Amino acid sequence: MGPKRCAVASEESLMRIFTVPEAPDSTLSKIELEISSNLAGFLNENIAAIEKPLHEIEKDFQDAVLPEEPMFVSDYAQDIMEQLVAHSVHTAAPSFIGHMTSALPHFVLPLSKLMVGLNQNLVKIETSKAFTPLERQVLGMMHHLAYGNDEQFYDKWMHSAKTSLGAFCSGGTIANITALWIARNRLLKADGEFKGIAAQGMLAGMLHYGYKGLAVLVSDRGHYSLGKAADILGLGRENFIGIATDENNKVDVEKMRETAHQLQAKGIKVLALVGVAGTTETGNIDPLNDMADLSAELGCYFHVDAAWGGATLLSDNNRHLLAGIERADSITIDAHKQMYVPMGAGLVLFKDPAAADAIEHHAEYILRKGSKDLGSHTLEGSRPGMAMLVHACMRVIGRKGYEMLIDKGIDKARYFAELIKNDPDFELISEPELCLLTYRYVPKQIQRAIAQADEAERIEIYAALNRFTASMQKRQRETGRSFVSRTRLTPAQYDHQPTVVFRVVLANPLTSNSILKDILAEQKALAKTDPIFKKYLTKYI
Ligand SMILES: *Cc1c(COP(=O)(O)O)cnc(C)c1O
Repeated sequence: MGPKRCAVASEESLMRIFTVPEAPDSTLSKIELEISSNLAGFLNENIAAIEKPLHEIEKDFQDAVLPEEPMFVSDYAQDIMEQLVAHSVHTAAPSFIGHMTSALPHFVLPLSKLMVGLNQNLVKIETSKAFTPLERQVLGMMHHLAYGNDEQFYDKWMHSAKTSLGAFCSGGTIANITALWIARNRLLKADGEFKGIAAQGMLAGMLHYGYKGLAVLVSDRGHYSLGKAADILGLGRENFIGIATDENNKVDVEKMRETAHQLQAKGIKVLALVGVAGTTETGNIDPLNDMADLSAELGCYFHVDAAWGGATLLSDNNRHLLAGIERADSITIDAHKQMYVPMGAGLVLFKDPAAADAIEHHAEYILRKGSKDLGSHTLEGSRPGMAMLVHACMRVIGRKGYEMLIDKGIDKARYFAELIKNDPDFELISEPELCLLTYRYVPKQIQRAIAQADEAERIEIYAALNRFTASMQKRQRETGRSFVSRTRLTPAQYDHQPTVVFRVVLANPLTSNSILKDILAEQKALAKTDPIFKKYLTKYI
């Protein structure tokens, strides 16, 4: 790159960036044209396949001093192509099957540009107008999908100034916090002299109601966002109690019941049960009906974290897997996971339209009482019009289209599980219930060595396998052809010892069966040259 041309800060150049579009032959316009006409090609060509180490990349982002002088847009575009785009992650690649982020439908690109151009703020009607009814409709349609109330219900509540059927937000974390915020405020509500926790705080609430503590019970496989919720809601992370799961990674409701009774005997009130519908690590679904029974028994709130798995409701063929979800007081669903919406689209649905009263807040200059402003029921303040993209996907893909996508993902996971099971050098660790599974590479000779080893030796092999699995996952990522993620589980087949496993999510519709075969073949090849394998595991072969 030659020396930078120098732009000058002037009133005229400032006015230009607000009024004059980029010329058709400018660098940025060319980028725009390419991403509009061929996004996949653009990403394939411009994201470097081979990883550059992070400390190298950091050198391009070293300067702590904000630039004094302006820069030409084209020069900037050139810079980010080399420094940022090239070293971003190709999440849309069909062989990138490690995370919950996958390819996007093409039409969301121009639509997101329109959304940014309109720059609406959903906190209040004054800055969003039609976007507010649209967002309320999105919440209504998702509410109907989950709870299936009748037409009258939605006629009455969907656009009601008094309530909201849910809260749209940036993602599952905020959705979960919002749900537990409501649970907390409903439990410690105003009563006689006591003005409620929102007004008087946790301590006053506990003293008034005579509780020695509050607890939330969730599966050991609960998402870490729930811990954050416990922290900021003043419940305390230790009072967020993880309950053991069965061999299918589903929470053991009997153990949950025992724990709840033990806590209540100590004067600790169970505030809520949280069911997970699609755990982040293994994609399994808790027994939601049993949990709903237990929460009725305990008289506590029941929230379902379906951030990832909630989209399964879109498939008539598979929604039975989430049976009981309709009994939850609230449900978290991320549209930016299995609904193929770009990042920044989560929502929480409330069974009872009056639920959000518990967190309602008003301000004089905005969010006046009786207004339809969505901001009076949300944790976040200013929010973009992301609901438009959810609306677009719902309209363009339709429930039937989503059903095909969801079913295809689950079928593909089953196919991949079969490939793994039929190959003696791989081991399936968790069966796919949705489109997520975990597995590891353990050649049959090592499996035999484990079977014959004494306990000390077995622990040694387990440790070596863990290090090897982690090493392989990293090497596969760095090679850049494909990507699987990894996590740590405690499966029965490894004596409940911490076990590092590969984790794949098969949501990308462009991931073909032959890509899946290639990924296993690539892993076999990588294993042959793995330094950790050579050092610690060849002796068992
Ligand atoms: C992804 C996920 C979350 C968190 O959602 P974000 O959108 O990342 O904030 C919460 N719970 C589960 C089960 C998830 O999979």
